[in-house]
Amino acid sequence: AKAWILRHQFVGFPKASDFEMKLEELPDPKDGARFVLIHRAYSRARMKEGDVMIGRQVAKVIVSKNPAFSVGSYVVANCGWRSFVLSDGTELTPIVSDWPKDIPLSFALGAIGMPGLTALYGLEEICQLKAGETLLVNAAAGAVGSVVGQIGKIKGCRVVGCAGSDAKVAYLKELGFDQAFNYKTVGSLEEALREASAEGYDCYFENVGGEFSSAVMPQMKPFGRIAVCGSISLYNDTVPQTGPYIHAHMIFKQLKMEGFLCHRWSYKNEESLRRLLAWVTEGKLRCQEHITQGFENMPAAFMGMLQGDNIGKAVVQV
Ligand code: NDP
Repeated sequence: AKAWILRHQFVGFPKASDFEMKLEELPDPKDGARFVLIHRAYSRARMKEGDVMIGRQVAKVIVSKNPAFSVGSYVVANCGWRSFVLSDGTELTPIVSDWPKDIPLSFALGAIGMPGLTALYGLEEICQLKAGETLLVNAAAGAVGSVVGQIGKIKGCRVVGCAGSDAKVAYLKELGFDQAFNYKTVGSLEEALREASAEGYDCYFENVGGEFSSAVMPQMKPFGRIAVCGSISLYNDTVPQTGPYIHAHMIFKQLKMEGFLCHRWSYKNEESLRRLLAWVTEGKLRCQEHITQGFENMPAAFMGMLQGDNIGKAVVQV
């Protein structure tokens, strides 16, 4: 089996030479898998040189001595960038039963998987989003952001999204976002945010961090809520960014800001995945995937995702 290893710890933006493909011996099979892979934007923080790259995959069980996983069934496997894997079952989650035939299984890595759950929990548990409120989300055309905005619409909110290309902005409008703009081409981010919602924002779903976040803070409404999901604009920094400092906005507007990891609510994942699946089958939640073909193209697809190549979930088909 093949595996992609982190050869050198990333310094700044990842380079092709930071990755290395290795062959792994597979011992006698207990459970086996063949899969489609995803990338996670924050993998770098959790890896050291020599580790297999972190990633989840939809995998087909091809050999099994474990009665919980029958041959031919599909699982979401948290097994890294590997072409085949042997597992004792601990890092495998069966795909929800009665998965509709017309819905691609790879959606279990996107809107009906960890990114969808992240969107749902950030909005419901942290933002406590209510109908009629105004919601802002950045990296809005990505795996998490596109679900955030659509759940905002399902809940009867006014949704503003921003993304890094005109094609992505057009996609956000197609998804039903009320306002969308390209943060790379607007002259002033502050003005673009004000234009999109003159009265400000009740909730802010934060994927980007850094300067973007600094521009949003003054435009939060009193008692606004901020779900800090990610800070992708900072992941490749070699020198940490500083300030501006946000305390005055936090105090005088009495804002609530909370970071979260989606696994905090994993005890309700099964019910939550069913809600997401129902929205997809009802046509209320649309998903797009950015599919790269071939295991050998994993590093290129990962670097492309960090550069914003993807509309929707970045997936590699093996
Ligand atoms: P995406 O599919 O959204 O892909 C990343 C996107 O981020 C790119 O397409 C790009 O879009 C945007 N981006 C990249 N660099 C910058 C930058 N410097 N400034 C602004 N935007 C940038 O990724 P995910 O949906 O998988 O993840 C979104 C965020 O959520 C990430 O920060 C990730 O780490 C986080 N996350 C957190 C979880 C949690 O449990 N807390 C779980 C899952 C994800 P564009 O063209 O718009 O710039």
